[in-house]
Amino acid sequence: MKQICVFCGSSLGFPSVYREAATELGKMLALKKIGLVYGGANVGIMKVLADTVLQSGGEVIGVMPQSLIDKEVAHQGLSKFHIVQSMAERKELMVQLSDAFIAFPGGFGTLDELSEILTFNQLRITDKPLGFLNISGYFDLLFDFIDHGVKEGFIRGEHQQNLIISTDCESILSKLVDFVPVSVTKWIEDIKVESEF
Ligand code: AMP
Repeated sequence: MKQICVFCGSSLGFPSVYREAATELGKMLALKKIGLVYGGANVGIMKVLADTVLQSGGEVIGVMPQSLIDKEVAHQGLSKFHIVQSMAERKELMVQLSDAFIAFPGGFGTLDELSEILTFNQLRITDKPLGFLNISGYFDLLFDFIDHGVKEGFIRGEHQQNLIISTDCESILSKLVDFVPVSVTKWIEDIKVESEF
């Protein structure tokens, strides 16, 4: 893996465990010579992660829409900085630039970004995997919701089973490398049959 995109909070989160985990992740990416692709901001966990990678000698690529740059949240010291026109274009370029994705604790922006990749994987628009770095059980309630979605028949069991989840930076990388996507033809055929009730 050459470049990994990390979706993470523009806030820091209250407990220090999130900052500590972002520092650990940043050091590991630099050590393994994996470039960080992220939203390019100089705030919150995004800043902690980018600064750690840079301070550890790694490469950081920021992707940010002009509107956010105008709000003065852009990081000024990155290895590369791409300016785009919209949030949609930002996500598109992040997908192009990255070999895989890590969902780190964050808010609505993070949820939006990780949901898009899970949907793209489901439709096989991209086979680049996404792994949840489940620091301090942050995503547990989301996993409960996904479980509810499966039980209620709106999320396929195979897509739930295929989620990559780890509490640990090292193991998430090997899981991302081993990822095998779910066959799209099978579940679309299943949905067609189930729709003829
Ligand atoms: P959130 O999880 O709501 O804090 O949003 C973080 C994610 O959304 C990041 O991965 C960014 O791509 C994007 N984002 C949201 N707010 C900002 C911001 N103030 N500056 C830069 N990116 C942001």
